[in-house]
Amino acid sequence: MNKIINHLPTAELQALDAAHHMHPFTANAELAQKGVRVITAANGVMLTDSDGIQILDGMAGLWCVNIGYGRKELADVAYAQMQQLPYYNTFFQTSHVPAIALAAKLAEVSPEGFNHTFFATGGSEANDTNIRMVRHYWAAKGKPTKKIIISRENGYHGSTMGGASLGGMKGMHAQGGLPIADISYIGQPDWYNEGGDMSREEFGLKRARELEAKIYELGEDKVAAFIAEPVQGAGGVIVPPETYWPEIQRICDEHEILLIADEVICGFGRTGHWFGTDYYGIRPHIMTIAKGLSSGYAPIGGSMVCDEVANVVNHAGDFAHGYTYGGHPVAAAVALENLRIIQEEKMIENAVADTIPYLQEKWHALGDHPLIGETNMVGFMGSLVMTPDKASRSRFSADAGTVGLVARGHSFGNGLIMRHVGDRMIISPPISITRLEIDKLIDIAFKSLDETLADIKEQGLYK
Ligand SMILES: *Cc1c(COP(=O)(O)O)cnc(C)c1O
Repeated sequence: MNKIINHLPTAELQALDAAHHMHPFTANAELAQKGVRVITAANGVMLTDSDGIQILDGMAGLWCVNIGYGRKELADVAYAQMQQLPYYNTFFQTSHVPAIALAAKLAEVSPEGFNHTFFATGGSEANDTNIRMVRHYWAAKGKPTKKIIISRENGYHGSTMGGASLGGMKGMHAQGGLPIADISYIGQPDWYNEGGDMSREEFGLKRARELEAKIYELGEDKVAAFIAEPVQGAGGVIVPPETYWPEIQRICDEHEILLIADEVICGFGRTGHWFGTDYYGIRPHIMTIAKGLSSGYAPIGGSMVCDEVANVVNHAGDFAHGYTYGGHPVAAAVALENLRIIQEEKMIENAVADTIPYLQEKWHALGDHPLIGETNMVGFMGSLVMTPDKASRSRFSADAGTVGLVARGHSFGNGLIMRHVGDRMIISPPISITRLEIDKLIDIAFKSLDETLADIKEQGLYK
């Protein structure tokens, strides 16, 4: 079998990468100077690079490898499906077994009333589907003016024109003529940075009520939906105050708008439940799914649609929308096997009983470190907010992200992939992580914070 080009020395792989490969969210010329890190293999929670160095993947790839690397069952299923039926579409009154079985399984594991899935190949595409579906839904109900979708600053909903427009990432909007029309934004429930003198609870209510104010401002007859991640992931693992989601739910119930929960990260065990909406007791109309759906072993995503919305859309003639590879048979078969493993091995139940409380206790203990102003964790998603002064929750005098980058450098150097968003450090490891691996993760995180503190003291960023 073709071993691809793993055999090339690192320097040659780096040179070829620099010459020919454009990376996402990357200053490519700078990276070319520095040399990219090439990952060649992985097993469990450990990655191996082209120099044979092992590193603990505290991010489960990009929040997606929920069951961990190296599960041969998924490879076997993909191999068998490729031989049986490598591809067919579901457009013109046809279907195939993997898509049928996966849609049925999703109906089983999702909250009551979710019995329908429209497939895509990832989260961004699924959110593009959502934009069109909610507008089509209202048009079918005789309310074509209900088009605006309200979302949140610093939310992340993908990188297509639609997904990035739904997202509230200013850096993304600054490039390529975004956002598209009829998307409107409210503030995010980031108490630590934006809560000022308010209590967490007061601030959660305040930010939720911005949704109601926005609906009044725009007019209920113009608003189609509100979209949000149960816990903001890419924005920095921002855990909303306890008061936030119940108030959002009240507002959605009292006004005639749809609620879209973007479960792309929160789904499939990440929060210690099947879905983030289960964790918060939210009742959305549509859930965006991807990432942990296949644990990243194959690209697949989708929109899970509640009965009420599905019934309207399904009776409104052709929905003129779809992707060539939506619900791809190999990806669907892999996703189905992934869900079987999560379910049959009781991965979520076991995590809730053992590894989640174990990790959370240790993660929160990192809050005693002099650099850390706040620790957050829901299920396996955690953040640490770094500050030069815990009492005032102040920021560093350098540009946001300066200290985060230093900490990330130390963490990578010490053998742990921990990401930074500004000066927050975040983790989202495979939900298969063991106690021993958690110990290792926490030890490296602590050591890296120590080294970061020493560095920034030297640079005069910490008094
Ligand atoms: C990653 C992500 C997306 C985009 O998914 P892709 O598969 O990268 O297109 C959408 N929403 C959320 C919450 C995400 O984290």
